[in-house]
Formats: sequence, structure tokens, C-alpha cells
Amino acid sequence: MAKTIQAIRGMNDCLPEQSGAWQLVESHIRTLAATYHYQEIRTPIVESTDLFKRSIGEVTDIVEKEMYTFEDRNGDSLTLRPEGTACCVRAGNQHGLLYNQQRRLWYMGPMFRHERPQKGRYRQFHQFGAEAYGFEGPDIDAEIIAMGARLWKAFGIEQSVTLQINTLGDTASRERYKLALVDYLTGFSDELDEDSKRRLSSNPLRILDTKSKETQKILEGAPTLFDYLDDASKQHFSSLCEHLDALDIEYEINQKLVRGLDYYNRTVFEWVTNALGAQGTICAGGRYDGLVEQLGGKATPAIGFAMGIERLVLLMQEINTDDSFASSADVYVTALGDLAQLEAATIAEQIRDKYEGSKVILHCGGGNFKKQMKKADASGAKVAVIVGENEVSAGEYGVKYLREDTAQETHNIPSLLENLGKIINN
Ligand code: ATP
Ligand code: MG
Repeated sequence: MAKTIQAIRGMNDCLPEQSGAWQLVESHIRTLAATYHYQEIRTPIVESTDLFKRSIGEVTDIVEKEMYTFEDRNGDSLTLRPEGTACCVRAGNQHGLLYNQQRRLWYMGPMFRHERPQKGRYRQFHQFGAEAYGFEGPDIDAEIIAMGARLWKAFGIEQSVTLQINTLGDTASRERYKLALVDYLTGFSDELDEDSKRRLSSNPLRILDTKSKETQKILEGAPTLFDYLDDASKQHFSSLCEHLDALDIEYEINQKLVRGLDYYNRTVFEWVTNALGAQGTICAGGRYDGLVEQLGGKATPAIGFAMGIERLVLLMQEINTDDSFASSADVYVTALGDLAQLEAATIAEQIRDKYEGSKVILHCGGGNFKKQMKKADASGAKVAVIVGENEVSAGEYGVKYLREDTAQETHNIPSLLENLGKIINN
């Protein structure tokens, strides 16, 4: 036998057993976006490499070591998108969607990062994101956060997810803080972990995000960003807190939350869980008022979030341990003999015509009654319609209930179609 070909490491197939859960999540997400009247935008999966270098920042995990970058046949440097915000802004600028306008947009689709694959961390993964342009906030900041809260409730996982928020202030206050932080950390430069040593000169704020326990210990004595904030940002933040209080959304202020991308300012937030080990961030976002202009558009305030769909599905499965996402058929139409096969096919079509969204399986490929009933049972269908040569000549068909203790019934076609309504609509 020929050698089989495997999928790329860290890039997963979504198998039939899992796609039910994915469809459920995706459909809730579409409903959520519609409820807040956000409009969908779909952008290409490949963009020019410059887009991500200029937006995410050269000295970030993504750009330094996670991008799938390649030259196409023209020698242009292209990158599989590692995130969606830059793509949204690129498209918004290109098509004039953001110019002197307010826009609420959302997207969903695959993203690519060359990371070490593990539970909740993959090389192809999927994000749902929402972005609002042309609003200064903090009212819109609260709306963007409320969308997440509503989604957790829809999935019944609100008890397992907590909200952390912080503010990064404006550029000038961050610069002042950076100096103070570098000043403090330079005193410990020999004791910092390798990444943090490097970041001390390139991207010192990211050190606050470190996973190293030793560096975290050193950070306990560091100056805090909050003390360096400009008044307008402080005001923005406290007003956001008021909005969240009014909406009954609980939050924790985490002054170490800085996020891994360069473009954020003022509000940043993460929805985190303890249920997934190290990959605890389900959804993350913040304000990025400078990005539209930085990518060539007119200065436009903006805020958004991105949610990791794999982590969301994992969390839902962790919490709802039954297989309530599995989708089973409604009706299994058997077909015993060649003549019966033709009749069974038309019966199956008539059921589908009458009941939109019904899940009907037509038995194909022949076989005896016992074998067909075994398949009917395995399909999860609630009833089997018995179509044999005798039934066809009599014009009367058997209806066998597979999941309840009800005697088999016999129906002509109109009565059969009518009766299946009880099953299909339940
Ligand atoms: P992390 O700190 O876990 O690496 P991040 O800060 O790189 O996350 P973002 O760029 O903010 O993540 O992406 C938003 C969300 O997308 C994350 O909170 C997470 O749910 C999801 N996500 C990011 N990277 C991956 C990945 N490699 N695999 C699966 N989900 C991911
Ligand atoms: Mg990451």
C-alpha cells in the first residue's frame, strides 16, 4: 500500500464528530453579531508581509517567530494571516469604509502561527473577531466587552470565564512609564530570563507579560503603569468601569495586562479561564486608536477583540460533558428491493419538501431488513419508515419508533407525512 499523507503538524481536521459543536458555536456567533448589528467582512487569508510587520510590530512574538511567510512566484513576500485586525483595517482603508464613518464589523476564519502545538494552541486555528471604528469610547468599549459576556451566557459557561481589564494610557504616558520600567529593571538585568533581557531594549512593556517566575518576582517591586497615566486615559478607564458596573459585568483590574501586539492603547482586556491549563485566554482585545492612520488611513479611533474558537469549543466540552452537540437524524427510510428503492427515494424527498431542515437518511445499497434496521438505529434517527415491495403494492408504510416504546404504525403517504411532523418538530 502507498504511504499515507498526514496533515501538517498543528493543523487539524475538523471531523464529523466535532463539526456539530463547531456549527453550534458558529451559529451562536452569527446571531450574536447580528444582535449588536455588526456586519461581516471577509478578507483574504494571504496578505503582503508588510501589513503585519507595520501593524503588529517587528519586536513581537508573532512577527519575530510565528509568521508563515513565503515568496510567491513573483518574488513578493506574502504571509498567511496570523490575526484579523490588520486585515480589517487594510480592507477598510482600501475600500473607504472607515473614512469619516462609524463601522461595526466582524469576521471569522482561520489564522496561522508557527507555534509549538499543544492543547489549545495550534498552527492553524480559528478566530471570531469584532471591530468598531470611529467611536472614541468608553461606551463602545463596554459594548465590545458586553458581546463576549453575552456569548458566554449563551453557552452556559459564564461561571468559568472571568474578565480582566487594564488601560495602557496614551503614547506619551506609555513612553514615560517605559523609561521608569527600564530604569528599574536594569538594576536586575543579570537576573532576568533571556526573553526579558532582550526585550529590555526592544519592547520593555512586554516583560510585564512574562511567564518566568523569577522575572515575575522581580516585577513585584516595579513601578506601575497606572501611576504614569495621562488624565484623559484615567477618565476613560473609570468611565468604562462605570459602564461595566451598570451592565452588571464583573471584572478584575490587572495592571500587568499589556497584550502582545504593539498597536494597543488605553483599554485592553482578556477573558480568561482556569479550565484549560496554560492556554487560558479565550478572548482578548483592546483599543487601537493609532492603527488606521499608521496603515495609511485618516486617524480613526478603533477597538476590537479576537476570540479563539478552538479554546471556546474545548471549554464548552470541558463544562458540558454530555454530547449534546452531536447531531442525529430524524428519519431513516429503509428500502427493501429494487422497486421499493425507487419509492423510498421519492418518500424521502417528500419528507424533505414538507419539513424544511428535517434530517432524513435514505437507505442506499440494499441489504436485508435486519441490516437496514441496524443502520437506522446507529444513525440516531427517531423513526424508521419501512418501505418493502408489499408496502409499495398496498400503498401503506410502516413507521417504527426507534427511541420509544410505541407500537409500530401503518400509514398511507399523506398520513405518513402528516404524522412525521410530531417527530421532526421535536
Ligand atoms: P497567547 O498568549 O495564548 O499566545 P495571544 O496573545 O498570542 O495568546 P491573540 O493574538 O490575542 O493571542 O489572539 C486572540 C485569541 O486567539 C487568544 O486569546 C486565543 O484564544 C486565540 N489564539 C491565539 N493564538 C492561538 C493558537 N496558536 N492556537 C489557538 N488559539 C489561539
Ligand atoms: Mg501567542
